[in-house]
Amino acid sequence: MLLPQLLEDFFQKVLVALGEYEMSQEKKSFVCKCCGNDTKFIWKTRHGKATTILTWFRYITLKQLQVECKGCGSKQYITRALLGMEPRKRIPEETLRKLALMGALTSYRVSEKFGKMFGWAIDKMTIWKSVQQVGAGMDFVLDENEEPRCEADGTGVGITGIAKRGKELKVLVQYKKSGGIRVAGIDIGNYNGSWDKLLQKSIGVIKKFKEPFLLTAGGDISIFESLKGKVTVLVQRCLWHIPYQAQYVLWSDGVKRKSGEWLHIVAELMEICAIRSLVDCPDTIKAMIGSKKARLEKVIVYCRKKGFKRCVIYLENVRGDMFTALENRLEGKTTSRVARLFRTVNMRVNVRKWSTEGALNVTKVRLA
Ligand SMILES: [Zn+2]
Repeated sequence: MLLPQLLEDFFQKVLVALGEYEMSQEKKSFVCKCCGNDTKFIWKTRHGKATTILTWFRYITLKQLQVECKGCGSKQYITRALLGMEPRKRIPEETLRKLALMGALTSYRVSEKFGKMFGWAIDKMTIWKSVQQVGAGMDFVLDENEEPRCEADGTGVGITGIAKRGKELKVLVQYKKSGGIRVAGIDIGNYNGSWDKLLQKSIGVIKKFKEPFLLTAGGDISIFESLKGKVTVLVQRCLWHIPYQAQYVLWSDGVKRKSGEWLHIVAELMEICAIRSLVDCPDTIKAMIGSKKARLEKVIVYCRKKGFKRCVIYLENVRGDMFTALENRLEGKTTSRVARLFRTVNMRVNVRKWSTEGALNVTKVRLA
């Protein structure tokens, strides 16, 4: 019972001292909202009307500091300005973000419990609101200073009123130069829905990359659809696409369709990309990959000799990840960075039932 009072007294004293300091300065850190004057003020009160704010520690009630502008005579409170808070807000941005992160890491009920253990009188509704507010204000886009390589995938999430796993959480992660990953896009929508909303925001950034933009898709062709015609994106992993994308690249290299060179390259790629299913002998798979890789190298050498520059760049870009799936079947695990991230998200989303917006917001905060 004593601590909150001491805390309030402490805050009030520091606040008044800060106010006195500001008033002694020629130029103030606050301005008159009416006339823009930032030099001439007189005190109205140092202990005015009470106001409540949520500090990192708990709610505290402070007596407002009020000044009068000598320029126009209007009165204004300077409490929040001195504390670096927005006008009329009860929760400072810093506190809001901490509460939101807490609510994204564990259930709202547990968050409330933790707070109470350390003397916070924060109810779970406030934590819930913080998650919603912070999450709704978050936006993820590609970073032009990181790698022009992304992975896109979707996973089901449980949403209230809809059959389990009725909606799909779509996430775009970007590879960082440091080797890690960052979230570059996130949305919740219907299964097989388009990736438009998520990718649209990043089109401007994709255009800025000097190297071709590489998108590894979890087999979803519609990921590519929303970017078609707007930017050049190379979708990877789905081997079915490679011979077709190669045809586009050959066309941009000026290679005549169905010419001898064209037929040779396309036919080779068709064969390289055709993976026989139901081969379950690890040694056979290893030998298959080895042979396919050697064959691909020959195609690259051929293209280079012929001067098909774009085709060479394209094949060199895709070759690294072409057989990832096949190789992983050998090891019996996935290397998808998104898949790992989804497990983290599901740990939180599985704790309760969610509305679409609620699930999206909590996921945004968690991933940020
Ligand atoms: Zn004024």
